[in-house]
Amino acid sequence: MSKKSYIVGFPRIGEQRELKRVLEQYWAQECSFDDVMNIAKNLRKRHWNYQKEAGIAYISSNDFSLYDNMLDTAIMLGAIPKRFRGLQEQELYFTMARGNQNLVAMEMTKWFNTNYHYIVPELSLEDEYKLNTTKLINEYKEAKEYGIKTKINLIGPLTFLGLSKRVDNGDVYELYGKIFPLYEELIKQIATFDENITLQIEEPIFVKDNDAKLLSLIKLSYEKLSTLSKNVAIVVSTYFEHSNEATKILLHTPIWGIALDFIHGSKNLDLLEEIAQSNKILIAGVIDGRNIWKSDLYAAQELLTTIAQSITKERIIISSSCSLLHVPFTLEYENRMNDEIKNWLAYAKEKLQELSLLSKIFFNEALTTEEKEALKNNTIAQETRTTSHRIHDPKVQERTKNIQKHQREGIYTERIHVQKKLLNYKELATTTIGSFPQTPEIRKVRKDFQNGFINEHNYDEEIKRYIRECITLQEECGIEVLVHGEPERNDMVEYFAEQLQGYGFSQNGWVQSYGSRCVKPPFIYGDISRAYPMTLKWSTYAQSQTKSIMKGMLTGPVTILNWSFVRDDIKRSEVSQQIALAISDEVDDLQKAGIQIIQVDEAAFKEGYPLRKENISHYESWAVRDFKLAVSSAWPQTQIHTHMCYSQFNDIIKTIENMDADVISIETARSGNKLLKIFKEVGYKQEVGPGVYDIHSPRVPSVEEIVKQIHLLLEVLPKEQLWINPDCGLKTRKFLEVKQSLSNMVQAVNVVRNELK
Ligand code: GLN
Ligand code: ZN
Repeated sequence: MSKKSYIVGFPRIGEQRELKRVLEQYWAQECSFDDVMNIAKNLRKRHWNYQKEAGIAYISSNDFSLYDNMLDTAIMLGAIPKRFRGLQEQELYFTMARGNQNLVAMEMTKWFNTNYHYIVPELSLEDEYKLNTTKLINEYKEAKEYGIKTKINLIGPLTFLGLSKRVDNGDVYELYGKIFPLYEELIKQIATFDENITLQIEEPIFVKDNDAKLLSLIKLSYEKLSTLSKNVAIVVSTYFEHSNEATKILLHTPIWGIALDFIHGSKNLDLLEEIAQSNKILIAGVIDGRNIWKSDLYAAQELLTTIAQSITKERIIISSSCSLLHVPFTLEYENRMNDEIKNWLAYAKEKLQELSLLSKIFFNEALTTEEKEALKNNTIAQETRTTSHRIHDPKVQERTKNIQKHQREGIYTERIHVQKKLLNYKELATTTIGSFPQTPEIRKVRKDFQNGFINEHNYDEEIKRYIRECITLQEECGIEVLVHGEPERNDMVEYFAEQLQGYGFSQNGWVQSYGSRCVKPPFIYGDISRAYPMTLKWSTYAQSQTKSIMKGMLTGPVTILNWSFVRDDIKRSEVSQQIALAISDEVDDLQKAGIQIIQVDEAAFKEGYPLRKENISHYESWAVRDFKLAVSSAWPQTQIHTHMCYSQFNDIIKTIENMDADVISIETARSGNKLLKIFKEVGYKQEVGPGVYDIHSPRVPSVEEIVKQIHLLLEVLPKEQLWINPDCGLKTRKFLEVKQSLSNMVQAVNVVRNELK
């Protein structure tokens, strides 16, 4: 074992998604809670053993969760919202997470800039909080029974508060006085568990732009927490970015160590001298916990050498950059993947090997024959990545170097004039966002085709039938700008990824997204290009079946990028540009085939925003550049729509305007017109389709309700600028609901149009 290796946290869903399966069975009342507990126990054991066998010195307990660590922390602190009181144990836990017929679930939101979602704790001044350490102590003891002395993982008090919300409207940090004492009590209890305990207190909130108030709490908190017991060595860990402001303060508190991410927070390097002057241990995150590529072990060694120029080796521990929660488990089940590509990858279990090997090399420990072999293989993998034809496509590189047309011709005010005349749509034109209900039948059709159970002809017939039905439904409802319904797509990113060169797919690369839900993102390993049209066949078929305008439907470059694992050998912005070029070819093919309106979805545009303000303008500049590039082939008369899945536009409205789409549909149904005021304030010129009803609920909105909503919209945007549509795609709904909702929507528009006459 290398005494100096450290893992921030390990995934828990199970390499065969065992936890997902048993949870879903339990929720469906097909098994008992004991069954869940058994599986959970087996998984913890297996994961601890993987780390132990790999020779990792610092292995975590309390990184496990049946649903989510923030939820666990809320339970630990007794932060139970009023509506759940009276419920007990697992019923309480899962109802907080998922709600039930009478109780709304707690809100869920993205964990920093990852695709993991946590449960947002609800706090209020009048609530009393009380410590419950059962889970934490049980997991510690359980590992100990297997002979593993773990470091204990804990979400820190400032991050807990910072990521919570006040239900009684106030600042979360006002509750510091109620929450912090529980952390003190907790550490005193932990001190009684065992001798020499390492406690990892995670404070990822420190990587954001923290205000003075938060910064002032750091010293106070960590001074206190670190002096409660000599028996507990505290490591404060941050990840996903640099945390320099906080680190500077922490170095003047008696914490034992500081864990920093040197992969996604290279500015952390600026503080090496200061860290050296303090007497702290540095846990250096140099193995990427966010990506699936094999680490370049030589580069990692170089990074460590740089660090060691300031900090003596004795005070360095080598670590993953963050919890391995964000990568899949193991390559062992990837038996359909091309061998060359597979050899470039490392999932969580493989990263354990890398970490252990790296730490042995760095600390001059003797390598076994196997380890020498692994090191050699690592070098080969890096070399082939720099030369492989699979990755490097001269045609693509040539094309990105010589881009002639960066944006479409014509300025908006002139384009829209031409478009309105040509397309001849009315004020308050009605449309939908793209997808129609994904029925079990259509899913089966796709699966059967994929598995070779039906031939292409039969598959095509089924898809065509769905498209026709979808068109009929829209025509019956009176929708004016139609969509084909996306029956051929399983997912808005995967569908394009599967048809682009440079993309790879895993069989078992599942990553937890929230609770029992996992996603299997495709990965970009090489230069991206489009070999053939991707949507032309279905869009043109759909157009041939109706006299109305059929909208083409594409996913934008930024969203495709943000929902994939991305190669790390070139910049993200370069990859994005390659995708944009491929999309621009598709736009051109569509318009040449008679598609007059093309929607380019950027559902994840906002998700990609950096954690720090200092990086925002760079992100915005290439993200906007590539959206414009993706539609640069559009003629002035081709109308470009985009769709974004959120409602907070205040801080990015100018950026959105710069994207220069003719029409944008957005998700504002749940927030009335409050958030839309910004469009008026900035004098936004392009057309806007603010969602008039919430598609996340099965409830059918009434005509009156939608009329009211349209009235609200008309207060902030003129009728000439407004489109009327639902607030997102309809794929999760049922056909009957959709039919009633859309027909109410059209009736509502008619009511308002009559009023406006
Ligand atoms: N066109 C896509 C759909 O309707 C957009 C999905 C999304 O915004 N997430 O499904
Ligand atoms: Zn959406």
